[in-house]
Amino acid sequence: MSRILIIEDEVAIAELEKDYLELSGFDVDVETDGELGADRALSEEFDLIILDLMLPNMDGFEICKKIREEKNIPIIMVSAKKEDIDKIRGLGLGADDYITKPFSPSELVARVKAHLARYKRLIGSGAKVNDVIEIRGLKIDKTARRVFINDEEKNFTTKEFDLLTFLAENPNHVYTKEELFREIWDMESIGDIATVTVHIKKIREKIEYNTSKPQYIETIWGVGYRFKV
Ligand code: CA
Repeated sequence: MSRILIIEDEVAIAELEKDYLELSGFDVDVETDGELGADRALSEEFDLIILDLMLPNMDGFEICKKIREEKNIPIIMVSAKKEDIDKIRGLGLGADDYITKPFSPSELVARVKAHLARYKRLIGSGAKVNDVIEIRGLKIDKTARRVFINDEEKNFTTKEFDLLTFLAENPNHVYTKEELFREIWDMESIGDIATVTVHIKKIREKIEYNTSKPQYIETIWGVGYRFKV
């Protein structure tokens, strides 16, 4: 999991950024003091820094310069003033990106992801990336056990998640209800295979645009189900 440090003295903004980034699966720390933030950025292992410009005790210019002397992790600088952004660019402090407040949290998340991806390619670190299956707007994050449809998260129970993931990992393969029951419920299927039907129905309600015309999990009449790709 990527670790992010937010150095921001406006607590409400810091908390908003933190919430959104945590929802996206990042491990986020906040520091509201410039000097303490710089110390942590230098002494601890973070993958990315979100750095406000105006901060108590040490400003973002100085912090950016200090970090750059020692580390090449991505730095996203944030400022309320467009002019400040222009000034930072002009100084060539080595920040990777600049965002003017107010900004949408989703834009911040998108930029964070882009910079982390670029940085990881750059260092070729084999840093751990979540194991994700993506098919036509359906995204299954196996590492975080989360499911999204067009970037909107859907809540899945454990069994629903296991069933969907199993089918998605074995696309175009028709499974009988008995096979799915054995696979997911992990017991000899003298139990109730109607459970499978119920779970498929619930999954479809969450991921299908039109449950009577499923795009993902097809019913093969008289046989079972198949994940279509
Ligand atoms: Ca500030």
